[in-house]
Amino acid sequence: MDLNQVQDDITKVLVTEAQIAERVEELAKEIDIAYAGKDVLLVGVLKGAVMFMADLSRAIQIPVSMDWMAVSSYGSGTQSSGVVRILKDLDADVLGRHVLIVEDIIDSGLTLSWLKSNLAARGAASVEIVALLRKPEAAKVDVEVMLVGFDIPNEFVVGYGLDYAENYRTLKDVGVLAPQVYS
Ligand code: IMP
Ligand code: MG
Repeated sequence: MDLNQVQDDITKVLVTEAQIAERVEELAKEIDIAYAGKDVLLVGVLKGAVMFMADLSRAIQIPVSMDWMAVSSYGSGTQSSGVVRILKDLDADVLGRHVLIVEDIIDSGLTLSWLKSNLAARGAASVEIVALLRKPEAAKVDVEVMLVGFDIPNEFVVGYGLDYAENYRTLKDVGVLAPQVYS
């Protein structure tokens, strides 16, 4: 979906489709180098990371597998609850494999911090994170992120997989959601 379809709901575009495409290529190159010769499992976090996973995985040149998890930490609001629930678990066994979690955004970092230790406890050879977006709050939590696409201000954003109450995921750019939409 193009921006002009939801113009009134978006106060500002933070990252354009073109900027995302360029950054995804750079991230893929770093992953190619870091994981050369390794058995890599990309773990996409549903549903927000779907677009990022689709583009990033195709930009990566080394062979990798893909799997998905769905966790819930937000409900339909805009504040992290800190409570993480597995809604859909991996199909793959991660034992001895190099797991790279592909996530749309790190806000409080609670979701990823939990997910990282959960996957490490299953015997993965390594567990790292690549996140398209990162908010400033993430700095306060002790979760190490290998790669970040863009650092953004502390605003609620939608588009490129990110939703508000399941809307706006198909928007091509990432923009700030107008407060009137959720207040
Ligand atoms: P955290 O546990 O606070 O880091 O929350 C991470 C999850 O919350 C992300 O995977 C998103 O699904 C969701 N989230 C956090 N910030 C935003 C936002 O600005 N827009 C849409 N979803 C968000
Ligand atoms: Mg998410």
